[in-house]
Amino acid sequence: MPLLGAHMSIAGGLHNAFQRLLQVRGEALQVFLKNQRQWHPPPLSAHAVRLFQEERDNFAHVPVAAHDSYLINLAAPDPDIAEKSVGAFASELDACAQLGIEFLILHPGFHRGAGISTGIARFAKNLDRACALAKAHSVTVLIETTAGQGSGIGSKFEEIADMLMKSKAGRPLGVCFDTCHAFAAGYDLRDERSYERTFDRFEKTIGLRLLRWFHLNDSKAGFGSRVDRHEHIGRGRIGLQGFRLLVNDPRFESHPMVLETPKGKDLRNDRKNLATLRSLLRSVDDSESEPFEEDREADPENGGERRPTPRDPAGSLKRGKPSGHT
Ligand SMILES: [Zn+2]
Ligand SMILES: [Zn+2]
Repeated sequence: MPLLGAHMSIAGGLHNAFQRLLQVRGEALQVFLKNQRQWHPPPLSAHAVRLFQEERDNFAHVPVAAHDSYLINLAAPDPDIAEKSVGAFASELDACAQLGIEFLILHPGFHRGAGISTGIARFAKNLDRACALAKAHSVTVLIETTAGQGSGIGSKFEEIADMLMKSKAGRPLGVCFDTCHAFAAGYDLRDERSYERTFDRFEKTIGLRLLRWFHLNDSKAGFGSRVDRHEHIGRGRIGLQGFRLLVNDPRFESHPMVLETPKGKDLRNDRKNLATLRSLLRSVDDSESEPFEEDREADPENGGERRPTPRDPAGSLKRGKPSGHT
């Protein structure tokens, strides 16, 4: 069974993300490290770091990834943007190490008209510079597959493979597979044959051993549209079958898989999407799984469900042992 979780808000403090994850019985966590719209946010206070580390210890078995700031573009042709990106990414690497976050997920960026191969070369060079600048070397950088919107690089597995090959970062690198992005980029997941073909191609071009993390998002936009619009699980153009195949794939049985689906004011949507995914786990060959619309999950606030403890966020969804994510 994969580790199903979600990207969580850090409103009110980074450490609050863990309690939000607990509220949806998540088993893998993704966060932003800080305000996404500032190049130079104030550094994390010692107090904020300590609060996060305490929660990190309480949730020691939960794999945690940070997602890099959307401002960062390591492929940027503009030298000013590239410099700022290198500095910002280096400081995110150090923040992850300080907080005990093992993965930093990186969008490869945009070539802005310079062309894919120039963009990839710039990306690899700037990634290496950021890694050299960072004091910490414990954090694994995961390059995310993209939809290929605009001048975005990294929508083809070959492009990701090229980035991995060109980088001499001297630190562990891997890949984060986003289902919505891959689908929009032309990698089908909708039925068994296309699903197998997609992961065969991943294996042949990148290697499945480098696939360390998943973003589970259905797609509002059509197959091959190169448009990045996330949709609730089962309500988009991928549909339930693709997610059923993925969450039951033995090759990914202990992988973290986090939602980046639309959220409302509370965590209701995350609960529903996770319930949908869990129902698929229970029913490998059952095409009548519950759709997103049906909310059969009891409301934990009203005592409808056993409240999981911090050390057992999965509650009744017990697994044999924590997976070995380091
Ligand atoms: Zn994503
Ligand atoms: Zn996206």
